[in-house]
Amino acid sequence: MPVVETVGPLIERQPLPPPASAGLAALRKFGAKPAPPLEWNAEIERATAHLYERIKNVVPSVEWPFFAPYVAAINALKKERNAVILAHNYQTPEIYNCVADFVGDSLQLAREATKVKADIIVQCGVHFMAETAKVLNPDKTVLIPDLKAGCSLASAITGEDVRLLRERFPGVPVVTYVNTSAEVKAESDITCTSSNALQVVESLGTDKVIFVPDQYLAKYVASQSKVKIIAWKGSCEVHERFTGDELAMIRANDPDVQIVAHPECPPDVIAASDFTDSTAHMIDYVRKHRPKRVVLVTECSMADNVQAELPDVEFMRPCNLCPHMKRITLPKILDSLLNMKEEVVVDPAIAAKARRAVERMIYLRS
Ligand code: SF4
Repeated sequence: MPVVETVGPLIERQPLPPPASAGLAALRKFGAKPAPPLEWNAEIERATAHLYERIKNVVPSVEWPFFAPYVAAINALKKERNAVILAHNYQTPEIYNCVADFVGDSLQLAREATKVKADIIVQCGVHFMAETAKVLNPDKTVLIPDLKAGCSLASAITGEDVRLLRERFPGVPVVTYVNTSAEVKAESDITCTSSNALQVVESLGTDKVIFVPDQYLAKYVASQSKVKIIAWKGSCEVHERFTGDELAMIRANDPDVQIVAHPECPPDVIAASDFTDSTAHMIDYVRKHRPKRVVLVTECSMADNVQAELPDVEFMRPCNLCPHMKRITLPKILDSLLNMKEEVVVDPAIAAKARRAVERMIYLRS
C-alpha cells in the first residue's frame, strides 16, 4: 500500500542549534591523562601487526605508520579508563576493525549499549546514537569524539513537530526511526530501526501509524504492509543521492553484479536492487551469498569494512560519504579518552520518556 500522506513541518522554525556539551563534568570526575608519544617505531609495529592484518586489503601499508600509534594509545587508554568503544558500520576501517569493542547498525549498538559494564562509553557514530546510549545508560558517562557529528534525518524533526502531528492525527500511534533526537523519541510510542521497521509498525495492531522522519523508509515499509502510513518529509542526505538510473547503468554493464541497497534510498533505487535491508542485514547477505561482484548502495566505509573481512568479493563503489560519520577520527577518539570530551547529556525527564520508546522496541518479540 502506498504512503497515505507525507507531512512536512507544521510550523515555521529556525534550524536546530548544535547539541549542548555537558562541559567539564566528566573531566572533573575522571581527570585528564597526559598525551602519549605518538611515534611509529618497531615496538608499535610489533604490537599492532595483528590489527593491521585485519585491514591490509583496504588500508595501504604507507598509511599504517600514521594510524598505528593512535590505535595503540587508544586501546591502552580504554583499559586504563574502563571504557568501551561502540562503532557504527559506517566508521572507517581503522576505527571499525582496530579500536572498536562492538560494531553494528543502530539496533545492534542500542542492544549492546544495554549490556555495557564499563564506566565510559565512547560512541563512534553520530550524535543521536550517543544520545541513545546515554538514554539506555543514564548512570554511565557517554562521550562522542565530535559533538558536531549530526544527521540530516535527526535534524529534520523536533519534539514539537511530533506533538503537532498528534494533534492533527488524534489517536494514531507514532513510530519513530532511531535516527532522531532523544526529545523526538520521548514524544513517540515506539522507536524502530531499518532492521525492524516493518515488524514494529505491525506490532501496534492499528490500521494507521504516523512514521517519522524518513519518507523513504516509510515508503519501503508501506510497500510491504497493509497498515496505512502517514510519513514525514525527512531524508538521509547520503542515501537520497543514489538514483535508479545509475544502478541500471551498472547492471547493463555487468548483468551478474548483485545490488544490495539500504531502505533509506528512494523507491527507484530499491526497485533496481536485488536485496534491501539494514546495514547489518546487507552485510549478512554478502557473507551468506558471497557474490563475485557486489554494489553496497550505502555509505562508502561499509564496503571497506566488509571487504576487509571478505577479500574474495569484489566491491564496486558508487558510494556516498556521510560527512557526519567522517567527523570521527582516531586523533579525536584519543582526545576524547584523554580529556573526557565531549560528554553527551540528556535531560533526565526526556531520557525517561525516550527510554520507554526505545526499550519497547528492543524487547519486542522477534
Ligand atoms: S548516513 Fe544518513 S542517516 Fe546515517 S548518519 Fe549520515 S546523514 Fe544520518
